[in-house]
Amino acid sequence: MTDCLFCKIVARELPADIVLEAGRALAFRDINPQAPTHVLVVPKAHYENAAALAAADDGLADDVLKTCHAVAVKEGIAESGYRIVFNTGPQAGQTVFHVHAHVLGGRALNWPPG
Ligand code: IMP
Repeated sequence: MTDCLFCKIVARELPADIVLEAGRALAFRDINPQAPTHVLVVPKAHYENAAALAAADDGLADDVLKTCHAVAVKEGIAESGYRIVFNTGPQAGQTVFHVHAHVLGGRALNWPPG
C-alpha cells in the first residue's frame, strides 16, 4: 500500500530500528516506547488489522506470533514475561492501520490495561 507508514518501513523507504527480520515478518522498535522493550512486529504484506491477518489463512499469523516470541528471546524477556497486544480498531486505540503486534516487557506490566 503506497500511503502506509509501516509498508514504507518494510520497504526501507523510512528509517526504523530493526530488531529482526524473519521471513514474512519484520520487527522494529516502537518510536514511543511504553516499556524497556517495546517492539512492533508486522507482516511485510499489508493487512489492516488482526482480523484481516487471521482471515488471510496462510500461516502468516503464525509467522507473526513466532516472530514475537523470537523478539522476546532476543531481548532477554522470554523468561521474565512479556505481553503481546494487537490493538484492533479505533476504540482499542489502533492508530496505524497496518496490523502490528506490540511486544512489551522489561518491567512489571499492569492489568487491566487502560
Ligand atoms: P497502535 O496505536 O496500536 O496502532 O500502535 C501504533 C504504534 O506505532 C504506536 O505505539 C506508535 O508509537 C508507533 N509508531 C508510529 N510511528 C512509528 C514509526 O515511524 N516507527 C516506529 N513506531 C511508530
